[in-house]
Amino acid sequence: MKKILVVGSVGLDDIETPSGKVERVPGGSAVYFSLAASMFSKVNFVGVAGEDFPKDVIALMNERGINTEGFEIAEGKTFRWSGRYHYDMDHRDTLLTELNVFENFRPVLPENYKNSEILFLGNIKPSLQLEVLERIINPELVISDTMNFWIDNAPEKLVEVVRKSDIFVINEDELKLMTGKPNFLSASDKMLEECSLLKALVVKMGKYGVYVTDGNEEFFLPAFPLRKIIDPTGAGDSFAGGFTGHLARSGDYSFSNIKKACVYGSITASYSVNNFSITGLKEFDHSIIDEEYERFRKMTTF
Ligand code: AMP
Repeated sequence: MKKILVVGSVGLDDIETPSGKVERVPGGSAVYFSLAASMFSKVNFVGVAGEDFPKDVIALMNERGINTEGFEIAEGKTFRWSGRYHYDMDHRDTLLTELNVFENFRPVLPENYKNSEILFLGNIKPSLQLEVLERIINPELVISDTMNFWIDNAPEKLVEVVRKSDIFVINEDELKLMTGKPNFLSASDKMLEECSLLKALVVKMGKYGVYVTDGNEEFFLPAFPLRKIIDPTGAGDSFAGGFTGHLARSGDYSFSNIKKACVYGSITASYSVNNFSITGLKEFDHSIIDEEYERFRKMTTF
């Protein structure tokens, strides 16, 4: 089993969906990602929160075997984000982004993190993603993710991150924004052309599922069908957690295993959206994942 080092955001979110409204609930790309990935593999966590971040979340992460030596609690307030979802839950508006303790964060990697085989650069300021990339020793696999905020605010640094990655996970709207192409296939072509070292580009398409290509092979997987979605926040990070977790536990980074990783990622994300904040992931029961995998296989094979 390979070890995953994750760097990303730790946040307190205000979320409004057609199902309800919550305030100052735990979130952040690295929190969702690590809770999801820890169901499959060993996770070393790097991130920062302020003194107002709930300690029971860190305790939960430790219970799940996540190494939080690199989780810094800094003086000041935790990163804040607020979003409102549209009726179909596929689109959302960001109402607020406050970087707070992120402004001055310098990631420090504990010595025993440096030989992590897989690096996941979660959604965070691209210059911080690059700093972590420079400090880890010869990772076998680098996977990165981002969000519209960084595409708008740090486009050059972000392209540098993707150029140094093996796999880039991005949602469809953000891929279109980043490439300036209005169609996801032509946007994918442009991304692969500009970042020629990418072994796979994973395009998340909300309820339509996920599209993966290496420029040669292609794979399309629908989203795991759900009757009710409470809160889509963190779906992308939970997908990435299940996806990366499967690659880490198998140690196989081939395109055919990347397809399976998408299945595990989709199942994991389906748990995350079952409830607000990280509650859905808390309830994620790993013992039934093989059953869900089999159900998914039957639904998508013809
Ligand atoms: P997702 O729904 O998977 O895109 O991720 C949502 C999470 O990303 C929320 O919990 C937010 O706290 C976090 N987030 C929102 N904006 C940013 C940003 N600009 N940088 C890093 N994390 C963010």
